[in-house]
Amino acid sequence: MRLFPFHGGLKTVRHKTESNRQAIRAAALPKRLIVPLRQHVGAIAKPLVKTGDPVLKGQRIGQPDGYVSAAVHAPTSGVVIAVDQQPVPHPSGMTDWCVSIEVDGEERWIERCPVDYQHLHPSDLRNVVRNAGVVGLGGAVFPSAVKMNLSGHCERLEHLILNGAECEPWMTCDDRLMRERAPEIVAGIHILAHLLAPREVLIGIEDDKPEAIAAMAAACAGTGYEVRPVPTRYPSGGVKQLTKLLTNKEAPTDGRSTDIGVQCFNVATAYTLHRAIHHGEPVISRIVTVTGHVKQPQNLEVLLGTPFAELIAESGGYQDGVQRLIMGGPLMGFALHDDRVPVTKATNCILAAGAEDLALEQPAMPCIRCGACMDVCPADLLPQQLYWHARAKEFDKAQDYHLFSCIECGCCSYVCPSRIPLVQYYRYAKNEIWAQEKEKQKAELARQRHQARLERLEREKQEREAKLRQKAPPRSDAAAEKPTPTASIAHAKEAASSAADSPTEAIARDA
Ligand code: SF4
Ligand code: SF4
Repeated sequence: MRLFPFHGGLKTVRHKTESNRQAIRAAALPKRLIVPLRQHVGAIAKPLVKTGDPVLKGQRIGQPDGYVSAAVHAPTSGVVIAVDQQPVPHPSGMTDWCVSIEVDGEERWIERCPVDYQHLHPSDLRNVVRNAGVVGLGGAVFPSAVKMNLSGHCERLEHLILNGAECEPWMTCDDRLMRERAPEIVAGIHILAHLLAPREVLIGIEDDKPEAIAAMAAACAGTGYEVRPVPTRYPSGGVKQLTKLLTNKEAPTDGRSTDIGVQCFNVATAYTLHRAIHHGEPVISRIVTVTGHVKQPQNLEVLLGTPFAELIAESGGYQDGVQRLIMGGPLMGFALHDDRVPVTKATNCILAAGAEDLALEQPAMPCIRCGACMDVCPADLLPQQLYWHARAKEFDKAQDYHLFSCIECGCCSYVCPSRIPLVQYYRYAKNEIWAQEKEKQKAELARQRHQARLERLEREKQEREAKLRQKAPPRSDAAAEKPTPTASIAHAKEAASSAADSPTEAIARDA
């Protein structure tokens, strides 16, 4: 099996064995769940419940709003106690709309209706996926139904890639899922392959997960799907990097993977797809790695909406030396302000990080132009140039250096001898550009609205005038010639004078 290495990348300290030795365990049922209505990329789901409503496990409580959106469901049965703004996991510590549920402990399900996907029209199948709340569980949370629609993107899918690389240090949720539930993941891959009809199906797994590779290979026997171990090198799990590794293809800078005939899904997404289609169960839980400075690092199957603090407690509590709580891995994750925020579909790992994991947060020194950041950048960028321009707020220039091709993998920050938090500068620059873009769009929208108003007023004025013209009585010729009192007198005088003329005088005048 040939592999095609990508540029850059890192060998990192793995820290996988802390949590990958124990089987996945179901987390205890919490007393209260806080379920965010935005757990996906795209428009926030519209609430379908209000305070006081009873809900069943799996009941839809958030309706997808628009094409790029996903449904949200009650993770268990209980009563809605609030639909309001609550703190959610986000680097800014922001709040968002959530449905809070008081759990009744009875776990009463809705009626679950499995689907015979092979006899369903593709658009109906995508609708089922959308309404089941299936999104990318690798961390990107992009609605899967959108990725399952190739129309307009590519005529024929060449490679369907299943991402089981799990390259971030500490994180082991996909590893354990592949070891323990490989047949179910493969059942989900069948659904994707049925809909997308790819020429080949490739499953990429880093070679430090021999048990997962063996389990997936056994489950794929006879299917034609190929399990390909890839070198353990961060960030082999990036979509572009895994695509390059497995196919030697590279998507254009501003293009999508489908432009080169590739579509990629995380293995955990395939698993939830299987649950949704074959069991009629929407996405209400996920596997979360709880690790770092906790007494019992492990992988827990967690209901969405469970507060992080409960999972920390269930993992034996914090150990001494915790400096920060991170959602995701130490390279691509972000620090949380509070451990009471709820688990969402994007929560793959909760890392209680110590000072040694936060080496990047030491005081930054000036850039010494060593070029180490450029050597490791898997996106083939010039991180140092991006840094200068982001820092100087020269956002146009940062874009000229392909800022938006940066996958925020953190390799550059990791190797920087000056400990410059480079990724933070890129995130800042991207946010600024998006904010400016939003402002521009708002101004353009306001201009269009103003223009539309002026046109409407003018149209209404013309319509009013037309109506007035229609209301006025028709001016017949007789009416038009009807004399006014003054004109009548003048006319009468003229007639009298004419009548006074003798025939001879009249003949003389005409001559
Ligand atoms: S690694 Fe750090 S010090 Fe070296 S060039 Fe890049 S930004 Fe500068
Ligand atoms: S964070 Fe961006 S610039 Fe830095 S190495 Fe990764 S892709 Fe390159």
